[in-house]
Amino acid sequence: MAALPLTDSFGRVHDNLRVSVTDRCNIRCFYCMPETDVHFVERREILDFEEIERFVRIAVGLGIRKLRVTGGEPLVRRDLPTLIQRLCAIPGIQDLALTTNGVLLPKLAEPLYRAGLRRINVHLDTLDRQRFLQITRRDEIDKVLEGLALCRQLGYSKIKINAVAVKNLVEPDIVPLARFARENGFEVRYIEFMPLDAQSLWDRSKVLLADDIVAMLSREISPLVPVPDPDPRAPASEYQFADGVGRIGLIASVSRPFCLNCNRLRLTADGHLRYCLFAIEEDNVKTLLRSGAPDDEIAALIRRNVAGKWIGHEINSTRFVAPPRPMYSIGG
Ligand code: SF4
Repeated sequence: MAALPLTDSFGRVHDNLRVSVTDRCNIRCFYCMPETDVHFVERREILDFEEIERFVRIAVGLGIRKLRVTGGEPLVRRDLPTLIQRLCAIPGIQDLALTTNGVLLPKLAEPLYRAGLRRINVHLDTLDRQRFLQITRRDEIDKVLEGLALCRQLGYSKIKINAVAVKNLVEPDIVPLARFARENGFEVRYIEFMPLDAQSLWDRSKVLLADDIVAMLSREISPLVPVPDPDPRAPASEYQFADGVGRIGLIASVSRPFCLNCNRLRLTADGHLRYCLFAIEEDNVKTLLRSGAPDDEIAALIRRNVAGKWIGHEINSTRFVAPPRPMYSIGG
Protein backbone atom coordinates (compact mmCIF):
# COMPACT_ATOMS: atom_id res chain seq x y z
CA MET A 1 0.00 0.00 0.00
CA ALA A 2 1.40 3.40 -1.03
CA ALA A 3 2.49 5.62 1.86
CA LEU A 4 0.49 8.74 2.58
CA PRO A 5 2.06 11.78 0.89
CA LEU A 6 4.33 14.04 2.96
CA THR A 7 1.80 16.78 3.64
CA ASP A 8 2.30 19.63 6.07
CA SER A 9 -0.35 21.38 8.15
CA PHE A 10 -0.97 23.85 5.28
CA GLY A 11 -1.76 21.06 2.84
CA ARG A 12 1.53 21.34 0.91
CA VAL A 13 2.74 18.00 -0.45
CA HIS A 14 6.53 17.54 -0.30
CA ASP A 15 8.16 15.57 -3.12
CA ASN A 16 11.39 17.51 -3.60
CA LEU A 17 14.54 16.83 -1.54
CA ARG A 18 17.73 18.83 -1.72
CA VAL A 19 20.75 16.85 -0.61
CA SER A 20 23.87 18.73 0.42
CA VAL A 21 26.91 16.47 0.07
CA THR A 22 29.50 18.86 1.56
CA ASP A 23 29.74 22.29 3.16
CA ARG A 24 33.14 22.86 1.57
CA CYS A 25 33.73 25.01 -1.47
CA ASN A 26 36.57 25.95 -3.78
CA ILE A 27 35.52 29.59 -4.18
CA ARG A 28 34.52 32.27 -1.65
CA CYS A 29 31.45 34.22 -2.75
CA PHE A 30 31.22 37.23 -0.46
CA TYR A 31 27.43 36.85 -0.05
CA CYS A 32 27.84 33.28 1.16
CA MET A 33 31.03 32.89 3.18
CA PRO A 34 33.94 34.89 4.57
CA GLU A 35 37.22 34.94 2.66
CA THR A 36 39.15 33.33 5.48
CA ASP A 37 38.52 31.44 8.74
CA VAL A 38 35.60 29.51 7.33
CA HIS A 39 34.47 26.82 9.73
CA PHE A 40 33.71 23.57 7.98
CA VAL A 41 32.21 20.47 9.55
CA GLU A 42 34.72 17.70 10.38
CA ARG A 43 34.78 14.98 7.72
CA ARG A 44 33.57 12.27 10.07
CA GLU A 45 30.43 14.32 10.67
CA ILE A 46 29.59 14.32 6.97
CA LEU A 47 27.13 11.62 5.83
CA ASP A 48 28.77 8.93 3.73
CA PHE A 49 27.28 7.65 0.46
CA GLU A 50 25.57 4.70 2.15
CA GLU A 51 23.87 6.96 4.65
CA ILE A 52 22.76 9.46 1.98
CA GLU A 53 21.44 6.66 -0.25
CA ARG A 54 19.60 5.02 2.66
CA PHE A 55 17.97 8.30 3.67
CA VAL A 56 16.93 9.01 0.09
CA ARG A 57 15.41 5.51 -0.29
CA ILE A 58 13.35 6.03 2.86
CA ALA A 59 12.28 9.50 1.66
CA VAL A 60 11.28 8.10 -1.74
CA GLY A 61 9.07 5.64 0.13
CA LEU A 62 7.26 8.70 1.52
CA GLY A 63 6.74 10.36 -1.85
CA ILE A 64 9.98 12.21 -2.65
CA ARG A 65 10.36 12.14 -6.46
CA LYS A 66 12.79 14.98 -7.22
CA LEU A 67 16.34 15.30 -5.97
CA ARG A 68 18.79 18.16 -6.21
CA VAL A 69 22.41 17.61 -5.18
CA THR A 70 24.02 20.70 -3.68
CA GLY A 71 26.89 21.78 -1.39
CA GLY A 72 28.88 24.00 -0.45
CA GLU A 73 30.26 22.94 -3.81
CA PRO A 74 29.21 19.32 -4.52
CA LEU A 75 31.96 18.70 -7.08
CA VAL A 76 34.62 18.94 -4.39
CA ARG A 77 33.15 15.79 -2.79
CA ARG A 78 35.36 12.86 -3.80
CA ASP A 79 33.81 10.22 -6.08
CA LEU A 80 30.66 12.28 -6.58
CA PRO A 81 29.85 10.45 -9.87
CA THR A 82 29.53 7.25 -7.81
CA LEU A 83 26.89 8.84 -5.60
CA ILE A 84 25.05 10.26 -8.62
CA GLN A 85 24.96 6.78 -10.17
CA ARG A 86 23.57 5.29 -6.95
CA LEU A 87 20.91 8.00 -6.62
CA CYS A 88 19.89 7.66 -10.28
CA ALA A 89 19.35 3.94 -9.68
CA ILE A 90 16.81 4.44 -6.86
CA PRO A 91 13.36 3.39 -8.18
CA GLY A 92 10.85 6.24 -7.86
CA ILE A 93 13.29 9.09 -8.52
CA GLN A 94 11.84 10.98 -11.49
CA ASP A 95 14.24 13.90 -11.61
CA LEU A 96 17.81 14.44 -10.47
CA ALA A 97 19.59 17.77 -10.83
CA LEU A 98 22.76 19.30 -9.45
CA THR A 99 23.83 22.85 -8.60
CA THR A 100 27.53 23.69 -8.99
CA ASN A 101 29.82 26.70 -9.28
CA GLY A 102 31.23 25.04 -12.39
CA VAL A 103 34.93 25.38 -11.58
CA LEU A 104 35.46 21.59 -11.61
CA LEU A 105 33.13 20.91 -14.54
CA PRO A 106 35.94 20.64 -17.13
CA LYS A 107 37.13 17.60 -15.14
CA LEU A 108 33.81 16.16 -13.94
CA ALA A 109 31.09 17.04 -16.48
CA GLU A 110 31.71 13.83 -18.43
CA PRO A 111 31.93 11.36 -15.52
CA LEU A 112 28.77 12.93 -14.04
CA TYR A 113 27.01 12.61 -17.38
CA ARG A 114 28.07 8.96 -17.66
CA ALA A 115 26.76 8.45 -14.11
CA GLY A 116 23.32 9.54 -15.31
CA LEU A 117 23.14 13.27 -14.52
CA ARG A 118 21.23 15.27 -17.13
CA ARG A 119 20.13 18.49 -15.44
CA ILE A 120 22.62 21.00 -14.12
CA ASN A 121 22.52 24.53 -12.70
CA VAL A 122 25.78 26.44 -12.88
CA HIS A 123 26.17 29.38 -10.54
CA LEU A 124 27.56 32.36 -12.51
CA ASP A 125 26.74 35.99 -11.63
CA THR A 126 28.83 37.72 -14.27
CA LEU A 127 30.82 37.20 -17.50
CA ASP A 128 33.24 39.94 -16.43
CA ARG A 129 36.54 38.57 -15.13
CA GLN A 130 37.14 41.40 -12.64
CA ARG A 131 33.65 41.26 -11.19
CA PHE A 132 33.86 37.46 -11.00
CA LEU A 133 37.07 37.90 -9.02
CA GLN A 134 35.44 40.56 -6.84
CA ILE A 135 32.43 38.34 -6.05
CA THR A 136 34.12 34.93 -5.68
CA ARG A 137 37.63 35.98 -4.65
CA ARG A 138 38.95 33.44 -7.16
CA ASP A 139 40.10 33.90 -10.78
CA GLU A 140 38.25 30.85 -12.13
CA ILE A 141 35.83 32.25 -14.70
CA ASP A 142 37.56 30.48 -17.61
CA LYS A 143 36.95 27.05 -16.06
CA VAL A 144 33.27 27.85 -15.47
CA LEU A 145 32.78 28.92 -19.09
CA GLU A 146 34.73 25.89 -20.33
CA GLY A 147 32.54 23.68 -18.12
CA LEU A 148 29.33 25.17 -19.49
CA ALA A 149 30.49 24.62 -23.07
CA LEU A 150 31.40 21.01 -22.26
CA CYS A 151 27.99 20.35 -20.67
CA ARG A 152 26.31 21.61 -23.83
CA GLN A 153 28.59 19.47 -25.98
CA LEU A 154 27.90 16.37 -23.87
CA GLY A 155 24.16 16.85 -24.25
CA TYR A 156 22.96 17.76 -20.76
CA SER A 157 19.22 18.20 -21.30
CA LYS A 158 18.69 21.36 -19.30
CA ILE A 159 21.51 23.74 -18.47
CA LYS A 160 20.58 26.67 -16.27
CA ILE A 161 22.72 29.53 -15.02
CA ASN A 162 22.00 30.66 -11.45
CA ALA A 163 22.85 34.33 -11.05
CA VAL A 164 22.55 36.03 -7.66
CA ALA A 165 21.23 39.55 -8.18
CA VAL A 166 23.04 41.88 -5.78
CA LYS A 167 22.08 45.50 -6.29
CA ASN A 168 24.72 48.12 -7.14
CA LEU A 169 27.00 45.31 -8.27
CA VAL A 170 25.60 43.09 -11.01
CA GLU A 171 23.36 45.47 -12.96
CA PRO A 172 25.92 45.55 -15.82
CA ASP A 173 25.74 41.72 -16.00
CA ILE A 174 21.99 41.15 -16.24
CA VAL A 175 21.69 41.74 -19.98
CA PRO A 176 25.03 40.18 -21.09
CA LEU A 177 24.19 36.98 -19.15
CA ALA A 178 20.80 36.75 -20.86
CA ARG A 179 22.39 37.33 -24.27
CA PHE A 180 25.02 34.67 -23.54
CA ALA A 181 22.31 32.21 -22.52
CA ARG A 182 20.18 32.94 -25.59
CA GLU A 183 23.17 32.33 -27.84
CA ASN A 184 24.03 29.03 -26.14
CA GLY A 185 20.64 27.54 -25.35
CA PHE A 186 20.98 28.02 -21.59
CA GLU A 187 18.39 29.54 -19.21
CA VAL A 188 19.35 32.17 -16.64
CA ARG A 189 17.75 32.01 -13.21
CA TYR A 190 18.09 35.43 -11.58
CA ILE A 191 17.98 34.91 -7.81
CA GLU A 192 17.14 37.78 -5.48
CA PHE A 193 19.88 38.17 -2.85
CA MET A 194 18.69 36.48 0.36
CA PRO A 195 19.73 36.97 4.01
CA LEU A 196 21.74 33.75 4.23
CA ASP A 197 25.32 34.98 4.21
CA ALA A 198 27.79 34.13 6.94
CA GLN A 199 28.73 37.77 7.62
CA SER A 200 25.21 39.29 7.85
CA LEU A 201 25.93 41.67 4.97
CA TRP A 202 22.37 41.42 3.68
CA ASP A 203 19.91 44.28 3.77
CA ARG A 204 16.96 45.08 1.56
CA SER A 205 18.80 47.87 -0.24
CA LYS A 206 21.21 45.28 -1.67
CA VAL A 207 18.45 43.27 -3.39
CA LEU A 208 18.08 43.80 -7.12
CA LEU A 209 14.37 43.10 -7.47
CA ALA A 210 12.77 40.77 -9.99
CA ASP A 211 10.63 43.56 -11.45
CA ASP A 212 13.75 45.65 -12.14
CA ILE A 213 15.39 42.70 -13.90
CA VAL A 214 12.33 42.11 -16.08
CA ALA A 215 12.24 45.82 -16.98
CA MET A 216 15.94 45.84 -17.87
CA LEU A 217 15.76 42.77 -20.10
CA SER A 218 12.53 43.85 -21.79
CA ARG A 219 14.07 47.23 -22.56
CA GLU A 220 17.45 45.96 -23.76
CA ILE A 221 16.65 42.64 -25.46
CA SER A 222 12.98 41.85 -26.06
CA PRO A 223 9.77 42.15 -24.05
CA LEU A 224 9.33 39.29 -21.56
CA VAL A 225 6.10 37.32 -21.48
CA PRO A 226 5.19 35.25 -18.38
CA VAL A 227 5.07 31.52 -19.19
CA PRO A 228 2.80 29.23 -17.15
CA ASP A 229 5.19 26.67 -15.65
CA PRO A 230 4.17 23.01 -15.66
CA ASP A 231 4.95 22.77 -11.94
CA PRO A 232 3.62 25.84 -10.12
CA ARG A 233 5.54 24.70 -7.05
CA ALA A 234 8.90 25.32 -8.72
CA PRO A 235 10.58 28.35 -7.09
CA ALA A 236 11.22 30.19 -10.38
CA SER A 237 8.61 32.22 -12.23
CA GLU A 238 9.34 31.74 -15.91
CA TYR A 239 9.39 34.25 -18.74
CA GLN A 240 9.74 33.83 -22.49
CA PHE A 241 11.34 36.53 -24.66
CA ALA A 242 8.67 37.86 -27.06
CA ASP A 243 11.01 37.30 -30.00
CA GLY A 244 10.88 33.58 -29.18
CA VAL A 245 14.57 33.23 -28.35
CA GLY A 246 15.02 31.74 -24.94
CA ARG A 247 13.54 31.95 -21.47
CA ILE A 248 14.58 33.24 -18.10
CA GLY A 249 13.49 32.40 -14.56
CA LEU A 250 13.17 34.66 -11.54
CA ILE A 251 13.57 33.32 -8.02
CA ALA A 252 12.12 36.25 -6.14
CA SER A 253 12.14 35.07 -2.51
CA VAL A 254 12.17 38.64 -1.19
CA SER A 255 9.76 40.54 -3.45
CA ARG A 256 7.46 37.67 -4.47
CA PRO A 257 7.71 34.93 -1.82
CA PHE A 258 6.52 31.53 -3.08
CA CYS A 259 6.34 29.68 0.22
CA LEU A 260 2.64 28.85 -0.12
CA ASN A 261 3.56 26.39 -2.86
CA CYS A 262 6.71 25.03 -1.26
CA ASN A 263 7.35 21.30 -1.76
CA ARG A 264 11.00 21.22 -0.64
CA LEU A 265 12.95 19.62 2.17
CA ARG A 266 16.71 19.82 2.73
CA LEU A 267 19.23 17.32 4.08
CA THR A 268 22.42 19.00 5.21
CA ALA A 269 25.83 17.43 4.62
CA ASP A 270 26.14 16.70 8.34
CA GLY A 271 22.81 14.89 8.43
CA HIS A 272 20.20 17.37 9.60
CA LEU A 273 16.75 17.66 8.04
CA ARG A 274 15.42 21.17 7.40
CA TYR A 275 11.85 21.91 6.25
CA CYS A 276 12.91 25.35 5.02
CA LEU A 277 16.01 27.15 3.78
CA PHE A 278 15.42 29.68 6.59
CA ALA A 279 14.38 27.19 9.28
CA ILE A 280 15.64 27.97 12.77
CA GLU A 281 15.17 24.41 14.01
CA GLU A 282 16.19 21.16 12.33
CA ASP A 283 16.11 17.42 13.04
CA ASN A 284 19.18 15.27 13.50
CA VAL A 285 18.93 12.35 11.10
CA LYS A 286 22.57 11.30 11.42
CA THR A 287 22.19 10.02 14.97
CA LEU A 288 19.39 7.69 13.83
CA LEU A 289 21.30 6.60 10.73
CA ARG A 290 24.36 5.78 12.81
CA SER A 291 22.59 4.18 15.76
CA GLY A 292 21.01 1.42 13.68
CA ALA A 293 17.52 2.86 13.94
CA PRO A 294 15.03 1.03 11.71
CA ASP A 295 13.75 2.68 8.52
CA ASP A 296 10.32 3.41 9.97
CA GLU A 297 11.85 5.41 12.79
CA ILE A 298 13.63 7.60 10.24
CA ALA A 299 10.44 7.83 8.19
CA ALA A 300 8.58 8.96 11.30
CA LEU A 301 11.15 11.68 11.88
CA ILE A 302 10.71 12.93 8.30
CA ARG A 303 6.93 13.03 8.78
CA ARG A 304 7.29 14.92 12.07
CA ASN A 305 9.62 17.42 10.43
CA VAL A 306 7.13 18.14 7.64
CA ALA A 307 4.19 18.24 10.06
CA GLY A 308 5.98 20.99 12.00
CA LYS A 309 6.80 23.11 8.94
CA TRP A 310 6.00 26.81 9.19
CA ILE A 311 4.07 28.69 6.53
CA GLY A 312 7.21 30.32 5.15
CA HIS A 313 10.18 32.59 5.63
CA GLU A 314 9.65 35.87 7.43
CA ILE A 315 12.13 38.02 5.49
CA ASN A 316 9.46 40.66 5.01
CA SER A 317 8.42 40.83 8.65
CA THR A 318 9.99 42.35 11.73
CA ARG A 319 10.00 38.85 13.24
CA PHE A 320 12.66 37.70 10.77
CA VAL A 321 15.57 35.86 12.37
CA ALA A 322 18.43 34.71 10.15
CA PRO A 323 18.92 30.92 10.31
CA PRO A 324 21.79 29.70 12.52
CA ARG A 325 23.47 28.16 9.46
CA PRO A 326 24.84 30.16 6.50
CA MET A 327 24.02 29.19 2.94
CA TYR A 328 27.12 27.05 2.36
CA SER A 329 26.19 24.70 5.17
CA ILE A 330 22.55 24.37 4.05
CA GLY A 331 22.82 24.01 0.29
CA GLY A 332 20.78 25.92 -2.36
S1 SF4 B 1 11.70 30.03 2.10
FE1 SF4 B 1 11.29 28.04 3.02
S2 SF4 B 1 9.09 27.73 2.90
FE2 SF4 B 1 9.64 29.40 1.54
S3 SF4 B 1 9.88 28.46 -0.45
FE3 SF4 B 1 11.90 28.55 0.49
S4 SF4 B 1 12.16 26.62 1.56
FE4 SF4 B 1 9.99 26.83 1.08
